[in-house]
Amino acid sequence: MRWFDCYRMRLLLIALIITSVAGAVSGQAADSETNSAAITAAGPRLGPVVVVEVTFPDRDALDELARAGYDISNVQGNVATIYASLEELERLKQTGYPLREIEQQSRQEGFDIMALGSYHSYATLTEELSAYAEAHPDICRLYTLGQSVQGRELWAILISDNPDDEEDEPEFKYVSTMHGDESPVTEMCLYFIDLLLTEYGQDERITNLINSTAIWIVPLMNPDGLELSRRSNASGIDLNRNFPLLTDSSGNIFTGEPLDAETRQPEVRHIMNWTVENSFVLSAGLHTGSLLVCYPYGYNEQMSAVDTPTPDDLLYEEISRRYSMHNLPMWNNRPDGIINSARWYPVIGEMADWNYRYVSCNEVTIEISNNKRPSASQIPALWSDNSESMLSFLEAVHIGVRGIITDRASGEPLWAEVLVEGNSQPVFTDPDVGDYHRMLLPGTYDLVFHVPGYVPVEWKMS
Ligand SMILES: [Zn+2]
Repeated sequence: MRWFDCYRMRLLLIALIITSVAGAVSGQAADSETNSAAITAAGPRLGPVVVVEVTFPDRDALDELARAGYDISNVQGNVATIYASLEELERLKQTGYPLREIEQQSRQEGFDIMALGSYHSYATLTEELSAYAEAHPDICRLYTLGQSVQGRELWAILISDNPDDEEDEPEFKYVSTMHGDESPVTEMCLYFIDLLLTEYGQDERITNLINSTAIWIVPLMNPDGLELSRRSNASGIDLNRNFPLLTDSSGNIFTGEPLDAETRQPEVRHIMNWTVENSFVLSAGLHTGSLLVCYPYGYNEQMSAVDTPTPDDLLYEEISRRYSMHNLPMWNNRPDGIINSARWYPVIGEMADWNYRYVSCNEVTIEISNNKRPSASQIPALWSDNSESMLSFLEAVHIGVRGIITDRASGEPLWAEVLVEGNSQPVFTDPDVGDYHRMLLPGTYDLVFHVPGYVPVEWKMS
């Protein structure tokens, strides 16, 4: 842990304001250009939704499908899985591409059994989470982030050694089941919560993790979708196409556009507000339907299925492998079990892109099963494939450099931007404590610290 002192200088503040205004203006044009496509890709799809597999001839044809706004959920070789309204299905048939209807989304049976290794409903999940929080009051809190379209709570569990205090600790999150028909990942979260809470004080590795990290888990981001057995929320919107699209010029929470949460679907709005409040460092969105870890960016201006790296591409590959290397089926599924999101297929409005661009949280998307909802008897095997991966990925939140930035005179924590020279991606301090956590691969780095109104400070670290 290091302390950095800063000195006030008004001139710098003025320069910073000019820079951020210029950034915001140039970002707006790009945003409005792509908004119509974002709405089409997200929905709404209010009537029946059919899941189809479309065999496309080449990558250009895949790009065309993405640009046309179809809700693609998976691509394997030359086959794309698409969630289509009946009208979209007709348009797809007109392409002449071979097409196979997989299912029409309807309510599935088999909920309401309350035990690990079975599928939970919203009601039994709620009971289970409340019971965990009650049984482990020293290290666990249950919060609601807000309500879904149909009034169900978006539950969030916090596990940490002092759960009521803001501490100099990195904050981590798993957000699960933003697609309502992918409930195995909700069950993985319950197993994970159970593991952390029951092994605290018993297992040294888990005890250390809880003592040094604020661990958040949202087991069910789309409770209405779960109850309706469908991908979208109750308004027919794909929540993983509903986050703000941010381009390089539109800035971030520190220098850029306002949050813009109010215009979003309620489930997305609650996740955005909570994410901003908690200064997350590392995160994963959990899904089923494929078997890989994909990492930003998912969007590029051409909407083309090409590699679209962030400034932290090597770091992203490393943390993605930390998950995939402990999951044998995933590791064997494709090279290292990882891929750049846009290279897989391009998307607009993904949660991971927004986390990285706007709040500088490193987020990946993890797909744990080719079968979206295997029979309940498969759940224990899925957990054994994913338990070490979930722990190892969480541990990665501690790689890199960290410190606290305070005002030298008052000792008050500061909201600051931390930049690594040669890398355009900033991170920010948590203004509650002033701590920052810049995930980095081993190496020697020059860091620069900016606080509006203070002289920038440079620091060498290795
Ligand atoms: Zn999904």
